[in-house]
Amino acid sequence: MTHLRVGVDIGGSKIAVLVVDGSDAVRARRLVAAASSEPDEAIAQIGAVVRDAVAEAGATMADVSAVGVAVPGRVETASGDVTFAVNLGWQHLPLGRRLGAALGVPCVVENDVRAAAVGLHRSQTFGPTDDLVFLGIGTGISAGVILNGRLHRGVRGLAGEIGHVVLDPDGAACACGLHGCFETIAGGAGIARAARTAIDAREATSLSDRDGTGDDRASDGPSAADVFSAAETGDPLARRLVDTAAAAIARMVHELVLAYDVELVVIGGGISRAGAPLLDRIRTRLERIVAPSALATELLSETDLRLAGPDHDIGTRGAIALLDPVAKEVVARQAVG
Ligand SMILES: [Zn+2]
Repeated sequence: MTHLRVGVDIGGSKIAVLVVDGSDAVRARRLVAAASSEPDEAIAQIGAVVRDAVAEAGATMADVSAVGVAVPGRVETASGDVTFAVNLGWQHLPLGRRLGAALGVPCVVENDVRAAAVGLHRSQTFGPTDDLVFLGIGTGISAGVILNGRLHRGVRGLAGEIGHVVLDPDGAACACGLHGCFETIAGGAGIARAARTAIDAREATSLSDRDGTGDDRASDGPSAADVFSAAETGDPLARRLVDTAAAAIARMVHELVLAYDVELVVIGGGISRAGAPLLDRIRTRLERIVAPSALATELLSETDLRLAGPDHDIGTRGAIALLDPVAKEVVARQAVG
């Protein structure tokens, strides 16, 4: 009886696994430290944690119909190959095929932010809609776009890579080679780097006392999470950085709504842990942007803007959603590959 489905969410610092049964009830949940940058080791590691989780559910791999895998990187959806995952150090890794061979079940691979968008559409957590954007803001930024109930990938599978839209051509250098990309302003790594730069320039802040925590810190400086919490206590530098990030996010939300005319925009990723104060700042900025335009005000008033919140299953649920009939085209293509 193959009734279990497994979702694997691979992050820069952890592998999360969720096992659900035919009624979507959680049967097991596992979280282990980072996947290795060495492909053989990584596949063995992911395989082991999946087997452990399935055993915890009181089952064996024979009870599993398929495994969905969400990866922070560029994925060739036709083959399930990971072309490039910078934070994991992977390049041209045939993850779907190799993991499938190791586990003896079909494995479907997708970019993590796009998988989360598919998961949000499937769960309809924020109300019924077939048109939504999931804006994933972590170390970097990208968006998963669901149009008319289907994930919009684009010709090269790069639709939604808005982290590299240039907002300030004179801004900080981005890893992609451009300057002032959206993610240098609002991404976790960009915020941490901007804090470090300001501290080095002796700007007044309580952040200079911090050694930094979290995985998006810039070497020895404060992390983006430190910056967000300092902003809530009124630190002037932190407030400036958070306001700048909120303004950039608001601008991008506006552009996403104009580009895709979606009903719902959900902001997730590490930044969503900053919670209601951040959402309020983004909403205020958004109102300021659209105020002079009746059209923009109308569009935005009909768009629901939400934070994903502290939902630790959003990544694994997204990976499981890849196995759904809504994504069956991908399953079929990867199974052939
Ligand atoms: Zn860039």
